[in-house]
Amino acid sequence: MSKHSFSPESLMMSYGYKPELSEGAIKPPVFQTSTFVFKTAEEGKAFFELAYGIRNKAQNEELGLIYSRINNPNLEILENRLCLWDKADDCAVFESGMSAISTVFLEFLKPGDLLLISLPVYGGTDHFVHHYLPSIGVNVIGFNASHTEEEIIAKIEQTGKADRLSMIYVETPANPTNQMIDIERCSKIAKQYSTSEKEVVVAVDNTYMGPLWSHPIQLGADLVIYSATKYIGGHSDLIAGAVLGNATLMKRVKTLRTFLGNMASPNTCWLLLRSLETLKVRMEQQTRNAQAIAQFLQAHPKVEQVYYLGLLKEGTKEHELYKRQYTAPGAMISFDIKGGEKEAFTFLNHLKLFKLAVSLGSTESLAQHPATMTHAGVDIASKIELGISEQLVRLSIGVEAVEDLLWDIDQALDQIPPFNTQQINTSEADLSSALV
Ligand SMILES: *Cc1c(COP(=O)(O)O)cnc(C)c1O
Repeated sequence: MSKHSFSPESLMMSYGYKPELSEGAIKPPVFQTSTFVFKTAEEGKAFFELAYGIRNKAQNEELGLIYSRINNPNLEILENRLCLWDKADDCAVFESGMSAISTVFLEFLKPGDLLLISLPVYGGTDHFVHHYLPSIGVNVIGFNASHTEEEIIAKIEQTGKADRLSMIYVETPANPTNQMIDIERCSKIAKQYSTSEKEVVVAVDNTYMGPLWSHPIQLGADLVIYSATKYIGGHSDLIAGAVLGNATLMKRVKTLRTFLGNMASPNTCWLLLRSLETLKVRMEQQTRNAQAIAQFLQAHPKVEQVYYLGLLKEGTKEHELYKRQYTAPGAMISFDIKGGEKEAFTFLNHLKLFKLAVSLGSTESLAQHPATMTHAGVDIASKIELGISEQLVRLSIGVEAVEDLLWDIDQALDQIPPFNTQQINTSEADLSSALV
């Protein structure tokens, strides 16, 4: 028999769990326990020696179960399975995406350090970076998808603190406009500023495209971060986060997590294990639906412009970067409706199957208005610069039948009174052509 290694989707049902340790149960029970009983005092001593780093692991030695803030079977099985998608050494799961993100910032940024961050980023990240980090003496500079390598380096040099650059933090594609940041370029800049004493860490928030459609560690990133609330959880019924990376960096992340106490609960981990079994089929259906919807929107007379990676033209620079970084265009679509807030709201208020809610990556399709909802806190100048206009609507596409989603969008767009002189109704023919 030839050697064969299983794909992550084949391992999501069993990897890292031994039924014989749980009465033969095919699925792990919820280990709803705060503490674990040691067989002997010597065993307890050995576990603590590893937990506190008093000595290194012996060959094949694993950290034993001590206390659920440090480790728990549900947490460990989940972390082991998440490692498979990103081919990471280790993973730490958190009680939210924001606790994963803030823990990474707090571990790798010290007073006087410089953080380079891509903009726009998730609202919670933006607030932490621009309000909390400066209060502990961290300097922050931003760049966006339009900046060249030379321009980014010039920005770093202009601060006069290039020697204190400690982290490059990237969110790509950007929310809500799907602008892409080049991860390999960021990794190259990080190497340029790393010294033997200080490694510049590249951290990528991969919530929009992972863990299926992009693998930032393979592109040179050191840490990958998720809001597991989104695709990984995928059912809009929990909040969680994750960080993945090499053993050295993850040891630091996990140690700080032990003391902040922001690990996910056994129950949340159990739900995430269940979600992971269908991750690939869900995400594939979502991106197939999204591609059809984006094409339909692009052809619709009441739509001015659609921002979706699956519409990038071959031969363009963007398409080249897309091919390098992603294996599918994802399930997040933004588009400008002809008109302004009034037209956008009319559309949103008339949707019947889509739910009017923020968040993303879930089984059900969602719609929202970034300018007044997720990005309400962004100042006007930045909104203009980033293209977050009053006409912009963001969709997260779910697993429903695509013809139902297309019908819903079509009828809601029909409710918008004619904006210009002519109102053109989409015909049945337009609808069916979007299905292929
Ligand atoms: C939702 C989200 C977060 C925050 O995650 P929570 O689980 O809500 O704390 C961070 N980054 C991105 C890109 C997100 O979409």
